[in-house]
Amino acid sequence: MPAWRVIGAGFAGAVAARQLAEGGVGEVVVQERREHIGGNAFDELDAHGIRVHRYGPHIFHTNSPRVWDYLSRFTAWRPYEHRVRACVEGRLLPLPINRTTINELYGLRLDEAGVRAFLERVRERREPVRSSEDVVLNAVGRDLFEKFFRGYTRKQWGREAAELAPSVAARIPVRTNDEDRYFTDRFQAMPAEGYTRLFERMLDHPAIRLELGTAFSPGAAPAGERRIYTGPLDAYFGYRLGCLPYRSLRFEHLHLADREWFQATGTVNYPGAQPFTRITEFKHLTGQMAPGTSIVREYPQADGEPYYPVPCAESEALRAQYLALAQAERDVIFVGRLAQYRYYNMDQAVAAALVATDTALGRERA
Ligand code: FAD
Ligand code: UDP
Repeated sequence: MPAWRVIGAGFAGAVAARQLAEGGVGEVVVQERREHIGGNAFDELDAHGIRVHRYGPHIFHTNSPRVWDYLSRFTAWRPYEHRVRACVEGRLLPLPINRTTINELYGLRLDEAGVRAFLERVRERREPVRSSEDVVLNAVGRDLFEKFFRGYTRKQWGREAAELAPSVAARIPVRTNDEDRYFTDRFQAMPAEGYTRLFERMLDHPAIRLELGTAFSPGAAPAGERRIYTGPLDAYFGYRLGCLPYRSLRFEHLHLADREWFQATGTVNYPGAQPFTRITEFKHLTGQMAPGTSIVREYPQADGEPYYPVPCAESEALRAQYLALAQAERDVIFVGRLAQYRYYNMDQAVAAALVATDTALGRERA
């Protein structure tokens, strides 16, 4: 029996495995259902030699020096600041909504104070803020909600913004200045040789043994084994309390051989009637110079891989019940986006794994 079994080779699993291995616990087996490491951050060269993200665009950003320093051990970085435009009424407008968005959309020439006054006029005060709809109405009012958020959210989640927790829409700030970066985190960059290379280096340790293409099944696993589990929380318990809601996506990867660029920014969002939510052009993200260009369209769907936990009241209640079961599993640590059922960005999955292994190693030494 290995000293530890880590289930899943995404950010949570890979960081946990490396931490345990360096902590000198003995052999760490990393068991991954897919044929590759990297989880949903996996990237690869497509048939045309362009680096693409198989499971949708992954842009790294964090405010945590610990996460940044930790990952920097395994990769050099390419500075990259993500910019997004939303396609509204045939125009490509900055998102998050900022001064330019409002001036262009309404044909105005407001300065910052003017934008603040404008928003004060159009916003619909919500007290308390109970949903994602409340968040947006409270900040920018009905018209901007309808144009930028209602359709996109309905497509992305298969439910109304009014049914989603405030935290979903609160990911997108509102600005009165001309700042048009999607993120304002202190550290923003892409791994210079891609995510997969970063994972290869992280998992390259004499104490780590990788088992790809084998799904872990709790029923069949030996009792008394110490585990880090990063798969879906409800799956671990055989869905015995019911299924947690997840949202899935279909990724349509396209290569355009006849043009160097497809769009002016890394991502363009489509809150309108199109069946997809956004289009991302990878060369913007990676800085790769190559003839032709590769893009991905994201089509949300109910069934398929569980990509997104769905933050809402009913999932929160079921999550709490599953977490109580998880807590009773004394030899198992549940960590990551699926296992904690949290809408984590990559840096949050890394941070959670660092904290979880700090605790595990502390116990081991005690
Ligand atoms: P995962 O990456 O999902 O890894 C879990 C692994 O466990 C998977 O490889 C899975 O195959 C494996 N597994 C599951 N069950 C089993 C089992 N029974 N046996 C064996 N293996 C199993 N974050 C950002 O910071 N920036 C972004 O731009 C960004 N964009 C995103 C875009 C999309 C479309 C999606 C879906 C997510 C995005 N994220 C982004 C979030 C990011 O993907 C996650 O934060 C991160 O991948 C979480 O890592 P994880 O290890 O918790 O989970
Ligand atoms: N959102 C929206 N319109 C947009 C962008 C985002 O309504 O153009 C809402 C939507 O509900 C989305 C959420 O804000 O799911 C979070 O957006 P983010 O870009 O952070 O989503 P992710 O990159 O995690 O898919």
